[in-house]
Amino acid sequence: MSYVLVINSGSSSIKFQIVDPSAGATDTPLVSGLVEKIGEFRGGLTIKHNGEKHEHVLTIPNHTAGFKRAFAELDRLGCGPTQLDINAVGHRIVHGGTIFSEPVLLDETVVSTLRELIPLAPLHNPANIDGIEVARRLLPNLPHVGVFDTAYFSDLPDSAAVYAIEKSLREEYHIRRYGFHGTSHEFIAGELHKQFDQPAEEINHITLHLGNGASASAVRGGKPIDTSMGMTPLEGLVMGTRCGSIDPGIIFHLYREVGLSIDGIDKLLNKRSGMKGLAGSNDFRDIHQMIKDGSQDAQLALDVYVTQLRRILGSYMIQLGRVDAIAFTAGVGENDPVLRRLALADLENFGVKLDDSRNESVGEGVQLISTDDSPTRVYVVPTNEELAIAQKVDRLVG
Ligand code: ADP
Repeated sequence: MSYVLVINSGSSSIKFQIVDPSAGATDTPLVSGLVEKIGEFRGGLTIKHNGEKHEHVLTIPNHTAGFKRAFAELDRLGCGPTQLDINAVGHRIVHGGTIFSEPVLLDETVVSTLRELIPLAPLHNPANIDGIEVARRLLPNLPHVGVFDTAYFSDLPDSAAVYAIEKSLREEYHIRRYGFHGTSHEFIAGELHKQFDQPAEEINHITLHLGNGASASAVRGGKPIDTSMGMTPLEGLVMGTRCGSIDPGIIFHLYREVGLSIDGIDKLLNKRSGMKGLAGSNDFRDIHQMIKDGSQDAQLALDVYVTQLRRILGSYMIQLGRVDAIAFTAGVGENDPVLRRLALADLENFGVKLDDSRNESVGEGVQLISTDDSPTRVYVVPTNEELAIAQKVDRLVG
């Protein structure tokens, strides 16, 4: 059996999995691991292999040290990248701009083009590139492939992708809606299509990817026609720590009246807003507990989250005209029946009838949670971005 090593290199963490591309969406990967708190005094390395969890507290000064330590530990456990039959390394890359709309073999030229895209994703692409460079140095004999979060949305209609600002500026500075979480939205579309007898070209659906980051997509006949994240992953739904869509005038206000720097505002809106900013926690399990304990802030946070979700859902229902399916996915979407019920409350007149008991008792795999007579079917569909990346990489390297 051959595997793909999937790497998601962030600014302070590296997530990795060793995945069999022919596995099912809910299968446990052979290995999964996390290097966290890179650059802090107390960092950590966690590896799960053969049902066992191996945890280490250690200082990891940078990405090179993180990869070296992780690979050494994998070797010690007998599942290192050079010990297993690994076909290729897949790197999750957040922003591919308008240049990359398919997975690509990573060579020096591609990496330098990625560097040119950093201004479009200053919070994400630099760490992705660090990961690629270190992994290519440590595993020089394997093909390395980049898989882009933006790729699935690269053909959005201009009417959805273009922002209403001056053409010359827009074009010179590549300002447009790119959309993110594309690997997940594409994977969910594939899983949903398997539930229908008709070909994908005849199915319209909406995917609600509700994790710590959250995004929605409207897909007509297999092609995405709109998505909620924009030029950056900050736009759209309320998220764990990101504000989602706000009046851009608020940014001027924070700058002029509060005296925050541009970097300070960037940090505020990306890291200290969303559910965290509203309720003090970005974990929906905490939010529900806080509501039970009487927290009005937590109740308001949930109300704001649901209102924004329904704004976008409603707009996609109108754009699609007929919606055959709605899919909930990612940490919140897959695990939170309360949120799903609130998101779809009172939509019977629009053809969406949730089955409360199905919604409350979701099992493994793709699950139908609407009533049998609901014109729009509603599903919980587990996402698996690492598997989706492994499958794309496997297809490319053959
Ligand atoms: P990421 O965007 O980091 O990949 P995930 O898709 O893993 O995020 O989602 C993580 C979030 O899922 C958590 O912050 C939490 O809010 C939510 N979550 C996880 N399990 C549950 C649960 N049982 N009930 C409600 N929310 C959950």
